Amino acid sequence: MSEEIQNKATESAAPAAPAAPAAPAAAAAPASAPRGGRPSSGPGGRGKFFRRKKVCKFCTEKIDTVPYRDVRLLQGFVAERGKIVPRRLTGVCTTHQRRLTRAIKQARNIALLPFASSF
Ligand SMILES: [Zn+2]
Repeated sequence: MSEEIQNKATESAAPAAPAAPAAPAAAAAPASAPRGGRPSSGPGGRGKFFRRKKVCKFCTEKIDTVPYRDVRLLQGFVAERGKIVPRRLTGVCTTHQRRLTRAIKQARNIALLPFASSF
């Protein structure tokens, strides 16, 4: 007896069932749309490092000798871990990059800058 009632219940529920999945499917469609848009911008992959203007800072400001005591200036050319940022990223010209490396190494030696941050 109870089985018949359950069968009737499932039969009556059956017509309602197709309507229920339709709503999630419609909701999933807009959610997949932004995902599809993301990979299209992804393969570019060049936005990882923000681009600075490729002009030598020392040339524009006419700084001939890089001041090794100017920590705030030097820290702009030192990465978080204490590494000297390569010229291709900072846009510093060759001559100034050489002077800059010397200045950074001098500053490290007198403990103004870290050789490597410990973490
Ligand atoms: Zn320069």
